[in-house]
Amino acid sequence: MIVTIDGPAGVGKSTAARQLAQRLGFDFLDTGAMYRAVALACLDRGWKEDDHDLCVQVAAAVKIEALSGHVLCDGRDISRAIRTPEVTHAASIVAQNPEVRDALVQQQREVASGRNIVSEGRDQGTVVFPHAECKFFLTADPRERAVRRQRELAKAGHAIEIDELMQLQKDRDDRDEMREIAPLRPAADALIVDTTQQAPEQVLEHLVAVVRSRQTSSRATT
Ligand code: C5P
Repeated sequence: MIVTIDGPAGVGKSTAARQLAQRLGFDFLDTGAMYRAVALACLDRGWKEDDHDLCVQVAAAVKIEALSGHVLCDGRDISRAIRTPEVTHAASIVAQNPEVRDALVQQQREVASGRNIVSEGRDQGTVVFPHAECKFFLTADPRERAVRRQRELAKAGHAIEIDELMQLQKDRDDRDEMREIAPLRPAADALIVDTTQQAPEQVLEHLVAVVRSRQTSSRATT
């Protein structure tokens, strides 16, 4: 079974996806971490934002593992290194490149093949797994998302003002929503979940209940 969770930056997708996977006994695929891994590898090679060729080469060459928590690139654990503001910005830029996307989409499908998986990102329900059995699209008020992100960054030792974070978040969302390839939008058959007023535990319980009911109804029809 494939469960997809898409949505804009800072909406709580990763937490929800990781915990949902744990509860269901599924694997968890963090596709944002894959774009971040390509961005980090590009930055390590002196990449400049307009260097399309380098990011395409890097995406084709590096071996990324982003299943169930730890993120490895060519065997190196980069789980922490990909969470800096620089990598966050660079990931949003490399994700606009159609060839980078093609390479990562192929890897995402290979990883999911034969597994029960919760896959989280921007295009999982629309492009990567259009036939997923259960699709969620998480939303939340932009200020609430920025506040959550500020807390997360503070824990990792990065202090950023809320107004600056809101601007960076808006820039990232705009790039994701306006790109030609795989723009951020809910799949027609996705369930939209507004998390603004909900604690992570409430969101999780809701998602678990929906997936379980789909599992029950698909068992009943087979
Ligand atoms: O979700 P996260 O913030 O880790 O994603 C990093 C960047 O990767 C996003 O800003 C987005 O541009 C890109 N991304 C994407 N498609 C995905 C996952 C992430 O374009 N499936």
